[in-house]
Amino acid sequence: MTSAMLGSLGPVLMPGALVLAASLIMAADSTVPREMQEAADRALESLKKTHGAGEAARIDRGVAQVLRFWRPEDGDAAAFRAFVEVEFVPSGEPVDAVFDRMEVALERMDGYFLSMSRDLRRGLDLDLGPLLPLDERLGAFEPAAHLSEDLFKNRLAFVALLNFPLTTLEGRLARGGTWSRREWAEARLAQRFSTRIPAEVNAGLTQAYAEAARYIADYNVFMHHVLAADGRRLFPPGLRLLSHWNLRDEIKARYADPEGLARQRLIAAVMDRIVRQEIPAVAVNNPLVDWTPETGAVALSAVEDAPAPATARSEAKPDREADQRYRRWLGVFQAERATIPYYPDEPTLVDRRFNRGREIPVAQFTALLESVLSSPLGEKVGRLVAQRLGRPLEPFDIWYGGFKPRGKLGEAELDELTRKRYPSAAAYAADIPRLLRDLGFSQERAGFLADRIVVEPARGSGHALGPLRRDDKAHLRTRVGPQGMDYKGYNIAVHEMGHNVEQVFSMTTIDHTLLQGVPNTAFTEALAFVFQARDLELLGLGAPDPAAEDLAALDDFWGTREIAGVALVDIAAWRWLEAHPEATPAQFREAVVGIARDVWNRHFAPLFGVKDVTLLGIYSHMVDSGLYTPDYPLGHLIAFQVVQHFRTLKGPTGAEFERICQLGNLTPDAWMRQAVGAPLSAQPLLASTARAVEAMPSVAAAP
Ligand SMILES: [Zn+2]
Repeated sequence: MTSAMLGSLGPVLMPGALVLAASLIMAADSTVPREMQEAADRALESLKKTHGAGEAARIDRGVAQVLRFWRPEDGDAAAFRAFVEVEFVPSGEPVDAVFDRMEVALERMDGYFLSMSRDLRRGLDLDLGPLLPLDERLGAFEPAAHLSEDLFKNRLAFVALLNFPLTTLEGRLARGGTWSRREWAEARLAQRFSTRIPAEVNAGLTQAYAEAARYIADYNVFMHHVLAADGRRLFPPGLRLLSHWNLRDEIKARYADPEGLARQRLIAAVMDRIVRQEIPAVAVNNPLVDWTPETGAVALSAVEDAPAPATARSEAKPDREADQRYRRWLGVFQAERATIPYYPDEPTLVDRRFNRGREIPVAQFTALLESVLSSPLGEKVGRLVAQRLGRPLEPFDIWYGGFKPRGKLGEAELDELTRKRYPSAAAYAADIPRLLRDLGFSQERAGFLADRIVVEPARGSGHALGPLRRDDKAHLRTRVGPQGMDYKGYNIAVHEMGHNVEQVFSMTTIDHTLLQGVPNTAFTEALAFVFQARDLELLGLGAPDPAAEDLAALDDFWGTREIAGVALVDIAAWRWLEAHPEATPAQFREAVVGIARDVWNRHFAPLFGVKDVTLLGIYSHMVDSGLYTPDYPLGHLIAFQVVQHFRTLKGPTGAEFERICQLGNLTPDAWMRQAVGAPLSAQPLLASTARAVEAMPSVAAAP
């Protein structure tokens, strides 16, 4: 987890649409009031007279960019004209000075707002004793909530739009490879102001997402009350599983259970009924009724269990869920749809998600996933899974996790080791310089970094919070129990430390703070994995052995395959909504069930020997996170590529890590080319998987 979780500061920096001057002026013609267009024309004329022909292109572009975002409340035609005539600055020293001021001003604003939020959230985030109701309130307060609109109101946004170019993703991909660092920084500066969504439209978005999140947060299944076809209870009392996370993780955990198969099948049946909305409404979050997915039967339960949640209902009518799942998902879609007019260059929501947030065109992205899903390695690894399980594959084996390499020491021994070494957060902090030296950083760099990382005990599982001003510090939060840091806490601390080091280099020592960060979260996760993968080595337990690397590749491949399927379902569902914006929840449900089956039949049925499975549609993020699932397979691929780069590195890790982090927020493709010398690709994962499969003779030889 990283600081992106903190909220609105990240999204303010969202990459944006790019507009070429000519198309911008033409677009403006149709919608801009006549007096505004006349003011713009007169301003163009007078600016060109003042600054000469050499500046004509910049003047055309800048005036058009301001005109595009100017609203009546910003001032009348005369005010507009006066503004552009006064604030336009010619190339050379004048524009350099404006650029420098802007860069520092935005760094200070973002940086102080972030550190203020961090301070206000201390009670919520840190293990400082009992949580007060006030802590929730302080944590919910977002000082930068209105920053973006304030910057338009005070016209700072317009100064940026007047003097720096808006760019399109196409342009950044085509020409970004030859841009100077300053050109990249200018592009990011203007991009920050490439959309201006009215407050009420934003409020609609917040509400739709909140409603969907509430629906998901409460979606528990009481497993003791889910009956097998023969009426048996397969799960212990009190086991309450949140869909989809706990349901999926229970399937994963039951591979270690000798009686696990029937339980896994039952959970898969629950998932299928949720996707199809054939789960009775009373079976959701309710320990008072028994439900048999096989037959659909529902009855009041005679068996005592955990106290019923306040929302549970006692009557046992087997009503279906009435498509609530798809109603909430549609709600998110409709709220997003209301923002379309504010992104005139990106009329489709799917394209916008990929062009702005991820900066990978959706066609390129799906091709990347297809390259994994259509690889013949799928069948080979599938056979390997079946062989290890000693039975034919079942659909839920998409969640098989048995390739995970096991260390020599058990969890209890590791706990003992880390508790002794790190009795407190301070003990971990004191060890950071040594850890960094062992990871390949010079004595000087290790000290520099250690001075800029604050270690604190987390209330939750742990996170890394980067600075957004050069003079601030990164914060590492991890769980420290009363007996010290257990192995899990240590493992997370090493991961978060990877984020922190990335955050310090990509903010404090980077050349342009406008390029602060990484292209998207998948990249900082990849860099954190580079550290995390070496956690046992840092405990003095030796380097990971090569056989473990093979297993890790197989595990990654199988996991990437599963989540790639999920992402394709998510994308196709949004595409369907765009084609059917007036759909009812029931129609949308039917469509998603069909899409989930299609993706399954194309990419999974050949391996699994079963058709028409709906499990790929179970992810809760689909409902409440608006096309977020594609970040997962992307994360797997990026992490693999980056970790592989460090594995094959000849020189010192530290210097290379620093160089890569200082690339900053380029497009993913430009970042990858400059970081590892190759475009974003699934090839490293596929090549490692192929090697791993070869190392397993019985499978390689199978027909
Ligand atoms: Zn992380």
